[in-house]
Amino acid sequence: MRTIANYDKVNNEFILNGEKRFITNGSIADTLVVYARNGGFIVQSDWEGYEVIEEYKMMGLHGLHLGHIKFNNLRIPKANALFYQEIKEPSEKIVGKTSTIESLQNMLGPERVILSAQALGVAKRALEIAIQYTQERIQFKKPISEFEGINFKIAEMSTNFEAARALVEKAVNDMRDSILAAMAKLFSCQTAFKICDDALQCLGGIGYTNKYAVERCLRDVRLLRIGGGTDEIMKYIIQKGIYKKSQQSSKEMLKKEFFESD
Ligand SMILES: Cc1cc2nc3c(=O)[nH]c(=O)nc-3n(C[C@H](O)[C@H](O)[C@H](O)COP(=O)(O)OP(=O)(O)OC[C@H]3O[C@@H](n4cnc5c(N)ncnc54)[C@H](O)[C@@H]3O)c2cc1C
Repeated sequence: MRTIANYDKVNNEFILNGEKRFITNGSIADTLVVYARNGGFIVQSDWEGYEVIEEYKMMGLHGLHLGHIKFNNLRIPKANALFYQEIKEPSEKIVGKTSTIESLQNMLGPERVILSAQALGVAKRALEIAIQYTQERIQFKKPISEFEGINFKIAEMSTNFEAARALVEKAVNDMRDSILAAMAKLFSCQTAFKICDDALQCLGGIGYTNKYAVERCLRDVRLLRIGGGTDEIMKYIIQKGIYKKSQQSSKEMLKKEFFESD
């Protein structure tokens, strides 16, 4: 994150400079919460210095306006600051964690659990369509649900859906557990993508058209393996948390052994 705010003491306002890609509804929003490296601010898009560089076209989520936006000396009244941390060095030299990064990290856990629930919702719809369609479609004088190649897919899709739901429910019960949130997001979003793909396969050619919602489910759900943190970043968070826990428990064991041997 390179967007940076500087405080103008004379005019009692902040001056924001930077750019952000992939901002949900950033190209049409009137009011935005913007995180800079050293603060959070409420910004109006009609202020001078707010520029929409581009609105991206996407493979799915066609109701969403994905913006690339730029802040060119955007002046923000002091009252619109959510928090601010003064940084002495020039912006190019800022490294390491600031209060913004910590605040964002605290917010991302709950956001990831919510995205996991979204993934379950999309997967559920695709699965329902596949269950219904496979009982109606006749091939070789039988509903295709009677072919093991199809009904075993339904069995696996349903089992994986329930496993993902159980993990998401566990994460919902402790939204502060960032490792569990990452596990729920990784597993539910990958599972939902696979369920939507298998549902499309169950529908054959018609699945690839827009007659049924499964092709839309597949396109829309794909984003969830990227937005809010990619699959790879979820794996990074999970392994880091697991090794940290393991090292902490080894230290505690050593401490216990040391005192018990006294
Ligand atoms: C539709 C949509 C809406 C979005 N909405 C918002 C929004 O409202 N606000 C917002 O702030 N952001 C938003 N985003 C941005 C989104 O969070 C990022 O796109 C996402 O976090 C990935 O970052 P990136 O695109 O820079 O990918 P990159 O970081 O360039 O990653 C590219 C690839 O490299 C991998 N990679 C990167 N670093 C590592 C690493 N250390 N180890 C292993 N693999 C790595 C990634 O996993 C990925 O596979 C949105 C994106 C999309 C597509």
